Amino acid sequence: MRGNSFEAKVKADGGRELLRLLGVEEPGGVSVPDLTAAGPEGRVARTALALREATGSGGWTLLDHPLLALEVAGSPVYLEPDAVVVRPDGGWTVVEIKSFPTVDGSADAAKVGAAARQAAVYVLALERVAAVTEGARVAHSVLLVCPKDFSNVPTASVVDVRKQRAVTRRQLGRLTRIDEIAEALPEGVSFDVAERSPEELTASVESVPHQYAPECLAACELAFHCRARSREAGAVETLGRSVRGELGGLTTVGAVLAAARGEAGDPDDPAVAALRRARALREEALASAPARMPREHVECPC
Ligand code: SF4
Repeated sequence: MRGNSFEAKVKADGGRELLRLLGVEEPGGVSVPDLTAAGPEGRVARTALALREATGSGGWTLLDHPLLALEVAGSPVYLEPDAVVVRPDGGWTVVEIKSFPTVDGSADAAKVGAAARQAAVYVLALERVAAVTEGARVAHSVLLVCPKDFSNVPTASVVDVRKQRAVTRRQLGRLTRIDEIAEALPEGVSFDVAERSPEELTASVESVPHQYAPECLAACELAFHCRARSREAGAVETLGRSVRGELGGLTTVGAVLAAARGEAGDPDDPAVAALRRARALREEALASAPARMPREHVECPC
């Protein structure tokens, strides 16, 4: 609710408030076209038309929640920036409104970085429309609007997203196309949630491999499922990619424990040597610990 009311405040006065943040004190008339249309394709087409009309109008236009399309791995993905401002000279600027504060002129660097990466994707999507719009030019600097200090007063800063744009473009170019991935699926596998029963969907999910890592928990709805499979298999990836990297050829928890106990593993392997040393230190610490300290492994709640 706070975010919504802040966004409404930023876009108040028919878009003039936002243009003031952009440094335009007297924008004259600001056009705010209606972008409603049926379905995402309709909204994308309506946005493209509004951008074309605005570019040739010679005035200021604010597109409130336009819808853009970008091809990702051969499939269209729909993106909705908070706003796009069209300048009288045909320049298009992405506006990203965030609810994290700018305190004493600076904001959380990680959050600003995430907002810049997000805005860079919008810039790439806008460039596709600009390529077929005469006189259009997409700015590689975006306007980031945040609440000032701990108030609800908006303040804006211009963020250069050239680097993020270049990185995202390169990453998108390297993605394997979805149809190539689909071709590699076993016969009869389908993830059609509308057509398939829960049992069939479960069987389909079970039939494909996974690459679980704790990072999945923050990004993927299948994370608990993949984590359970990964734990069942005793895969060390459940402990994190960095741990996996440290353990070299030891890929399961069982193999790690056997190596630590001296039951398996090459003693010249640095990972095996480090595990044995760690086990010896642990035994030593437990032997000298007060009796009330738990000696058994306690499962970490996280
Ligand atoms: S949780 Fe999602 S991203 Fe992670 S391995 Fe499973 S399907 Fe892939």
